[in-house]
Amino acid sequence: MGLMQKGQAGSSLQSHAQAAEALLAWYDRERRTLAWRAPPGTKQDPYQVWLSEIMLQQTTVKAVTPRYATFLRRWPDLNSLARAELGEVLAAWAGLGYYARARNLHACARAVVGEHGGAFPETEAELRQLPGIGAYTAAAIAAIAFGEHATPVDGNIERVVARFFCVETPLPAAKAEIKTLAESLTPAMRAGDYAQAMMDLGATICTPRRPACGLCPLRPGCRACAEGLAEVLPYKAEKAERPTRRGAAFVAMRADGAVLLRERPMKGLLGGMLETPSTPWEETAPNGNAVADHAPVEAAWHKTAGLVAHTFTHFHLELSVYRAEVGDDAALTEAAQAERCKWLQRRELSGAALPSVMRKVLAHAFEAKRHLTSPRRGEVALQARVRGSKLQRG
Ligand code: SF4
Repeated sequence: MGLMQKGQAGSSLQSHAQAAEALLAWYDRERRTLAWRAPPGTKQDPYQVWLSEIMLQQTTVKAVTPRYATFLRRWPDLNSLARAELGEVLAAWAGLGYYARARNLHACARAVVGEHGGAFPETEAELRQLPGIGAYTAAAIAAIAFGEHATPVDGNIERVVARFFCVETPLPAAKAEIKTLAESLTPAMRAGDYAQAMMDLGATICTPRRPACGLCPLRPGCRACAEGLAEVLPYKAEKAERPTRRGAAFVAMRADGAVLLRERPMKGLLGGMLETPSTPWEETAPNGNAVADHAPVEAAWHKTAGLVAHTFTHFHLELSVYRAEVGDDAALTEAAQAERCKWLQRRELSGAALPSVMRKVLAHAFEAKRHLTSPRRGEVALQARVRGSKLQRG
């Protein structure tokens, strides 16, 4: 079915204007209470809309809510966030994942202060020029904070629109078509409320599985519901399998409780975050020599039992974990010195810019240490010494 035909098919049951009106009436009754949402009839703070929208990318409302409150307490406005150090922002972001968002958040705050006098530009086109603000976020801020006639399309809205118009082209090929159809539904007035109504409908009624069509204000015009396709749309093209990368992580612990960490390069995955020193992450697991070459301190390294697994957007990661107890005067290898390694006390770890995968690595190493009631029990008896000597069975 072509684009116009689908729009017209919907119109024959419930015009676009009627659908928008029904949706807004539903929103006025049923809207979710969210920490970043202004009460009905009051103006939204652009800073709060922007902050919440960046946090909500790839993350659930449940996960974002407490972190949003913490962020807002610490940096209540754009100027305070712009004055913060990047490391502080990354540390506060730890656990939310997709750390490029935190780097861009900080860069965007500085850009708005430096280039726009501290006030967000009000149009979708201008917002789009700022760091970390893509098509969806620009439209969401423009509509919700400034009332511009803009149409954000996130995963929830994509699903509602695909169903309402019965778009059978699989995603992601259908994205442009869905965006056009979504725009055709957006009313001239209350574009911000309308966008939030669509988000709420997708989150609470038109859910991925078992949509509650009987409660839906769009049901009179919904083609997928009429054709019995509500539960299966939108179709999705099969995704390529995620590859697996493997590596070894080194957890060096001093008697005073300090742990050796290094800063990742600013650009790329987990940029600017802290990690334990590691071998490169590659398709094949590192062999004994590779492990010995990358250990950051001269020490007896013990391989702990099991693996730490973590899934990123584009690959799975499996890390074997080596741990060593070292003296206070432990000398770093030349490579480790060049890699911006530093010692952090255990009590500082909770507030450090450590991504989830590295928290798993540290927990794994600490847990292995806790279980050591007899010499090396709970660990694979395998040792590595850096600088030339081979791995040994201990
Ligand atoms: S009627 Fe059902 S499928 Fe259609 S928009 Fe509403 S909940 Fe989604």
